[in-house]
Amino acid sequence: MDQSKKNIAVLGSTGSIGTQTLDIIRRNPDLFGVSSLIAGTRVDALIEQAREFRPKRAIIADEARYASLKEALEPLGIAVAAGPQAIEDAMTDPETDMVVTATVGYSGLIPTIKAIKSGKEIALANKETLVVAGELVNNLIAETNSTLIPVDSEHSAIYQCLQGEDFKTVKKLIITASGGPFRTKSLEEIRKATAKQALAHPNWEMGAKITIDSATMLNKAFEIIEAHWLFGVEPQRIEAVVHPQSIVHSMVEFEDGALKAQLGVPDMHLPISYALGLTRRMPTGERPLSLTDYAHLTFEAPDTEKFPCLTLAQYALARGGNTACIVNAANEIANLAFREGRIGFTDIYRIITQTVDKVAYIQQPQLSDYIATNSEARQVAASMI
Ligand code: MG
Repeated sequence: MDQSKKNIAVLGSTGSIGTQTLDIIRRNPDLFGVSSLIAGTRVDALIEQAREFRPKRAIIADEARYASLKEALEPLGIAVAAGPQAIEDAMTDPETDMVVTATVGYSGLIPTIKAIKSGKEIALANKETLVVAGELVNNLIAETNSTLIPVDSEHSAIYQCLQGEDFKTVKKLIITASGGPFRTKSLEEIRKATAKQALAHPNWEMGAKITIDSATMLNKAFEIIEAHWLFGVEPQRIEAVVHPQSIVHSMVEFEDGALKAQLGVPDMHLPISYALGLTRRMPTGERPLSLTDYAHLTFEAPDTEKFPCLTLAQYALARGGNTACIVNAANEIANLAFREGRIGFTDIYRIITQTVDKVAYIQQPQLSDYIATNSEARQVAASMI
């Protein structure tokens, strides 16, 4: 590996954030190299990426696809491996400087913890890591020389607004939400919503799981939890505001009444490149924002009657312990079941809250407790479907 560059491991390289991360690396070959490419199941896309970026290693989580990976990449001198242990090992590679955690869901937690423990820079796109175990992750970062910078567009916006500011003067974090595809629908229409309708997001091209989380607005609840752990601001001082155009990516209010916002087109290349450069700005290939194309930027309060999942942020942070871990696990099961047409849209919230009632509460969870809670909550949620 070329030590003059920042060498990056992309966890979840074939997904939406992973491929956009590689776009930024491709545009800035003097700054970045690729040490590891790690994918879940899409072996053909992984092979194609490895042929282009020539990482030290390529890993596929799905062990059934190992043979085709090996056949394609070993002749090129790229080390190949499969399975969870190989992923964990890649996180501690001394030649990796930064890990981009672009994987979806709870599965990002253990590899991210490994990478933090070995002092890597973390570009965090996997928000579930902080949702599930924010306190534990923060403690680990404090104990190591790891740095964590958010990729989530809202948190990147807040990070940008906070540059050069004194944290003590922050009054409020205001996280913007598009409102998703059902913002203007009635409760009755929302009850009958299909996966196809929910997957048609008005502004953002994202993976299927997060698009459904956006439709329920649980994604925004997760982002409030994520902001709480990232910026150390109490939940009462973090609010969500619906901004259907997705141009203002989030805001910070200061004690003197000033409100700072970061604006841009709804495209993840900017927050990804800002994280890769650890706040250093660089070309992204993104089209610039033309304000005259957006004559009206509007803001409205979220409707928690239509989107009760949004209330789960304040609830989970107030109850604390393993609550957000249970919410996340139940949602992963319910979100998938909805996409597969096995439950209705409003069943997602019902299954989450009923799972929280049934899974044992742990006030001060350790990593082993989170692992146990995650699997118990998944079983409980699955039993309701
Ligand atoms: Mg976001």
